[in-house]
Amino acid sequence: MKTYWQNYIDGTWVDGGAGRIDVFNPGTGEKLAEQALAGVAEVDRAVVAAQRVHLSGALSDLRPVERGRMVQAMGRYLIEHIDEIAHVLTLEQGKPLWEARIEVEGAARYFEYYGNQAETVEGRSIPLGKDYLDFTTYEPFGVSAQIIPWNYPIEMTARSLSAALATGNACVIKTPELTPLSNAWLAHAAEAVGLPKGAVNILCGLGSEAGAALSAHPLVNQIVFTGSVPTGVAIATAAAKNVVPCVLELGGKSAAIVHDDADLDAFENDVRWGIYFNAGQVCSAMSRVIAHDSIHDELVERMVGVAQSLTVRPGIDQPEFGPTMGAMVSEAQRDRAADKVGAAHGEGAHVATGGRKMNIPGAFLEPTIVTNVTPDMTIANEEVFGPVLSVLKFSSDEDAIAMANGTPYGLVGGVFTRNLDRATTAARNLRAGQIFVNEWYAGGVETPFGGYGKSGYGREKGREALWNYVQTKNVAIKLG
Ligand code: NAP
Ligand code: MG
Repeated sequence: MKTYWQNYIDGTWVDGGAGRIDVFNPGTGEKLAEQALAGVAEVDRAVVAAQRVHLSGALSDLRPVERGRMVQAMGRYLIEHIDEIAHVLTLEQGKPLWEARIEVEGAARYFEYYGNQAETVEGRSIPLGKDYLDFTTYEPFGVSAQIIPWNYPIEMTARSLSAALATGNACVIKTPELTPLSNAWLAHAAEAVGLPKGAVNILCGLGSEAGAALSAHPLVNQIVFTGSVPTGVAIATAAAKNVVPCVLELGGKSAAIVHDDADLDAFENDVRWGIYFNAGQVCSAMSRVIAHDSIHDELVERMVGVAQSLTVRPGIDQPEFGPTMGAMVSEAQRDRAADKVGAAHGEGAHVATGGRKMNIPGAFLEPTIVTNVTPDMTIANEEVFGPVLSVLKFSSDEDAIAMANGTPYGLVGGVFTRNLDRATTAARNLRAGQIFVNEWYAGGVETPFGGYGKSGYGREKGREALWNYVQTKNVAIKLG
């Protein structure tokens, strides 16, 4: 594998004005490569290049089908290179190789979907009487700045980049310092499909430096951010100062309500995916289970069984789909998660299984179930962002919904029951942007996703996401 990785600005691979940063393999703890770090000057060059492309009309003057075809071709490029991309993604991020392949496929799927959507962004004609012709069009904002998290680096970039390009925006991507490498293939893809130089710029830099400079840049016209609440607030503040819109996707503390009539065999599968996929480093993870009194003990026993069935080892040694989990992204994130479990124990919760750092090199945490959690505890309210599931108990439907809604977040929520009235009542009363009934993560790229409350605003995925990347123009023509 290459030992030094550069940034991609205005169609050229360049060194970083802020030096280099070491990228580690969290599966071993060893140094993997060095990444060029962009400083404020490179951010400025990238934004200026993107603005030049925008003003030239090279993207926005195209017939949408032509942009759409390029966007679709980027997805095919990723699939053609899936072996190399997944390999690097696993080494830099820690996830099992089979999960890295799923991530690359997921990234490709965004380009397929939004490539298809490019030609559907149509305006309408508004009747103003016989003397006027009036119509609306949707125009790209111009320069879209996208700040990417480390949990799904290639899929998160794909999510915003595909929709932004399909609608004719030029993009500047700030990759995460922990996992910058796999994003290089998005630059290769942009080049391979014939996008103009400067339409896609991908650079790594420190959040506090390059990230802050990008979000405050006066030539940026729209911002997309996925990550933590404090950083989201900083970015929204910078956006407000320049009066540009932003999309914020800020994580959650999402709950599954499990009723006494739920299919518990099926629910075991939801536990496996909901909290242990990507070692729980998922904004929409099922990080709380709110279990009915009468099935609580049986459910805990089953969930502990799921946690204990997982083999945990370096992602690169996990090529095949199976009951396995990889490393967390870094030792710092692992320690943070382990500390939160320790604090929960201190507040009176019971660690039913796991909770400890594993005694092997790398950023490994045991798959963890914490029970006897009450709504007032810190672990019931704060994102752990690791393989840690908190279990709470309820006896009335109303209490379950109040508990599910009892955090500042509202990203997703789930209800597991065979009773249609219960399911639809919960779906109506849960305050979250996406509700899963009887299957966690039901939905897809086609379904809109985003938060209520401190989980953020704006929507990604689905046709809803397109409207974050365009502005409405009305044209009124006085007829002769
Ligand atoms: P973070 O600070 O929000 O980082 C996310 C991205 O924002 C990174 O690219 C980061 O750069 C950048 N950034 C940081 N400070 C910035 C600033 N002032 N201006 C502009 N960009 C900035 O998140 P983190 O520190 O990596 O993780 C902390 C916690 O955030 C996690 O434990 C988790 O709870 C949450 N999180 C949520 C998601 C999600 O999907 N919702 C994803 C990741 C993290 P650097 O790479 O240089 O830090
Ligand atoms: Mg950070």
